[in-house]
Amino acid sequence: MYTQLNQDRDNLSSILDITKKQSLDFLSQLPNRSTVTNISTIEASVLPEEGLGTLATLNMFNDNIEKLMVASAGPRYLGFVTGGTTPAALVGDWLVSIYDQNTQSVRGNGDVSAQIELNTIKLILELLNLPHVYMGGFVTGATMSNFTCLAVARQWLGKQLSQNVALHGVTQSYKIIAATPHSSSIKCLSMLGIGSSNILMLDTISEDRESIDVQLLEEQLIALNGEPALLISSGGTVNTVDFDDMHAISLLKRKYNFWWHIDAAFGAFAACTSEYAYLLKGWELADSITIDCHKWLNVPYDSGVFLIREEHRYLQVETFQNSNAPYLGDPLENFSYLNFLPENSRRMRALPAWFTLMAYGKMGYQEIVLRSIANARLLGQKIQSTEDFILLAPVRLNTVCFTLANNDDPSKLQQFLHRLTASGKVFMTPTVYKGKMCIRAAFVNWRTTEKDVALIFDTMKSLIVK
Ligand SMILES: *Cc1c(COP(=O)(O)O)cnc(C)c1O
Repeated sequence: MYTQLNQDRDNLSSILDITKKQSLDFLSQLPNRSTVTNISTIEASVLPEEGLGTLATLNMFNDNIEKLMVASAGPRYLGFVTGGTTPAALVGDWLVSIYDQNTQSVRGNGDVSAQIELNTIKLILELLNLPHVYMGGFVTGATMSNFTCLAVARQWLGKQLSQNVALHGVTQSYKIIAATPHSSSIKCLSMLGIGSSNILMLDTISEDRESIDVQLLEEQLIALNGEPALLISSGGTVNTVDFDDMHAISLLKRKYNFWWHIDAAFGAFAACTSEYAYLLKGWELADSITIDCHKWLNVPYDSGVFLIREEHRYLQVETFQNSNAPYLGDPLENFSYLNFLPENSRRMRALPAWFTLMAYGKMGYQEIVLRSIANARLLGQKIQSTEDFILLAPVRLNTVCFTLANNDDPSKLQQFLHRLTASGKVFMTPTVYKGKMCIRAAFVNWRTTEKDVALIFDTMKSLIVK
């Protein structure tokens, strides 16, 4: 065995002790750690001839790279929609690498870890009060989940028009309908050969809403006269967390011929609370649903979930089967994930989610979700209580969308955001809402408290230039 490899194997215990100490030091300092780095380039490493061994490599990482690591898992990182990592999720994630299982088959390959994934999907359905009519699995994130769901929707659209897209490719255009789709769904239409411009954008119910106009939608469906369509609904838009009217759409679903996909990447988690579950009432009739566990579930990145109704499993296998031979028999009888999703080999992505769901249960997640919403509301109230900022939409759930009171000059807003980011105390991302640049703060991290909100707002106030 190669010298460095052999040495590392013999010294693994002390190597892991050193790594554990470093990890704990980082996590205990996470709230104080900067949310931004002012280093913009790093020196590229050169492949060593002999290799340094793990400890020397760790030292090198600490000298050159560690300082670039920002507090994106910390309590005041409100950019994008980024959850942190609960202690249980961390343990699960660590063990994924320790056990390094092959997660394809439920039985037959000497490994049953795919059953843990199916079981974790069941836990997610239970958390979100969804019926057990969905087959689900883990992919990298909501983008790939949208891709997986929309790929099966494409197969369905094709079948409705007597085409087998998986076999013959896309040969005609499809009716795709949405009002405020996430950018990733549009990217998926491009990746799927449907074409990102082939989407019929319907109006929202009013100027100040991002929710689809259901009446227009029904008119559109009537006009299609039975021609199949794909509806991409938003279960929480990223700017103002507006929801399409799921109940109204579920009634249309009973009457018209369309595949109903819901992108509920983070909004899905509203369903675990009695206070906000109404936002998703009726969603259990959807054909497919996208959920991101690396958002409100607070597991580390690389954790998106797709849910696709079991009745579509043949379409799903036709889309993803990893074989040139036509599929024989019931695909669920000899279930293997590689026939149900884009990837073949994957890490055991379900384990962090399984750990955290078992460790904190329904009540733990209700508390995280409600606290995130309370924190967002509090920041919204503080913003409304001053003359320096304007709240651009009511805080409907966990996101605050705002701008400066003097917002006629977009460069002023940019400069303000730049100062805010440079403070290292809080991180928010710019967005475009109603054609104008503004700022968005998304609350999903389990660590964030009321005290953080106070610090966030004080920092914002102190950076106003009169
Ligand atoms: C975050 C998000 C996505 C994309 O998720 P990734 O995990 O970054 O791939 C898609 N849709 C919605 C609504 C989101 O919030």
